Order: sequence, then structure tokens, then C-alpha cells
Amino acid sequence: MINIILLGPPGAGKGTQASKLEETYGIKKLSTGDMLRAEISEGTPFGKKVQSIMDSGELVPDETIIEMIAGRMERDDCAKGVIFDGFPRTVPQAEALDKMLREKGQKINAVVELSVNEEELVHRLNSRVQEMKARGEDVRGDDNEDTLRNRLKVYRHQTAPIIPYYEMNELLHKVDGMAGINDVANEIQQILNQKLAA
Ligand code: ADP
Repeated sequence: MINIILLGPPGAGKGTQASKLEETYGIKKLSTGDMLRAEISEGTPFGKKVQSIMDSGELVPDETIIEMIAGRMERDDCAKGVIFDGFPRTVPQAEALDKMLREKGQKINAVVELSVNEEELVHRLNSRVQEMKARGEDVRGDDNEDTLRNRLKVYRHQTAPIIPYYEMNELLHKVDGMAGINDVANEIQQILNQKLAA
């Protein structure tokens, strides 16, 4: 059983790394962003409620997210552990996750923070959006420079404060998120293998 949190600003590559970890360790990736987008594309009343919040780059209320994750973690595919991508995003979410895991006799094994250069992220997003448009693909409602800048601000103000919380518990590991995808993946694997061997 391993539970891992991937932390880092929007566009840092958490989703990509979470998918790699899912393959390597056979544990389930839970991305709150993907779960919310699935609700939107299914056109559920819940999806309609959260769409405008997401498009503005603000956060969906804690209670909503906590309830969604708690329900999802009950499913069998989470039995071997979870890679959390995009959750927790606030101190109350981090506290709720601790409580949920404690009640199951589980804990967080490692928190990996992908550190990035914000200007480089804005540049990456702009190029990615241009490429997608050129291919005629749909671009996410929150994938534009203004919203990204707001998402970065929200990350600094509301999510970064959870970093000391995990540092205090000696769970936090910092990885250079601007390195190549495979280099980042290798570094995360080394950290986890050390943890698992300990
Ligand atoms: P990114 O990491 O690129 O910002 P996500 O897919 O993780 O994108 O999230 C997109 C949006 O979904 C966020 O800007 C926010 O509105 C909402 N969201 C996702 N996860 C959470 C969460 N844990 N708490 C609150 N809002 C969330």
C-alpha cells in the first residue's frame, strides 16, 4: 500500500508523472481536475455548477472536493494505494485527507513537489495551445494565459501553504519539474524506492 501526493503549480507535469507512476507501481491515479472535467462533459448539474469556477481558475469549495474524493477512494481500484494529482490543494483538504487515511489505517508515504519557473510555464502553455488550435483540437476552458496566471496566483496563496505541513512531517521531496519528462520520472522513482525500502 503506497499513497503519494504530487504537488506543484498548474502545468508542472503532475498528470504526466502520475500516469507513469500508475504504470510503474500499479496504484490508482486520482486527478480531481479530471474528475471535475468528466462531470462537466457529462453535463451533470454538479458539472454545471463547477464549470464557471474552473474557467476562472479559482478553486471549487473544499467540502465538495473532499466529498468527491472520499467517495472515489471507496472503490476497489484504490485498494493498493493512490497517487493524488491536484489534491489536496488547500490546508483543510490536506487535513481532511489525513483524517480519511487515518480512519482506514493508512497514511501518506511521500509528497513530491515539482518545482518550476512560472514564466517558462506561461510560455509552455501558450505554445501548447497554439499547437492544439493548429491541429483543430479542443482547448480546455481554463487554458489561456489570463486564467493560467490566476491559477498560479491561487497556487501560491492557497496551495503552497500546505508545503510546510508536509515538510514538518518529513514527507516532502522536491524535484526539478523543468527537467525532461523521463528525468523527472526517474528522480521520483528513486525517491519512492528509497521510501519503500526503508
Ligand atoms: P491544473 O493542475 O492544470 O491547474 P487541474 O486539472 O488539476 O489543473 O485543475 C483544474 C481546476 O479544477 C482548478 O483550477 C480548480 O478550479 C479545480 N480543482 C481541481 N482540483 C481541485 C481541488 N483539489 N480543490 C479545488 N478545486 C480543484
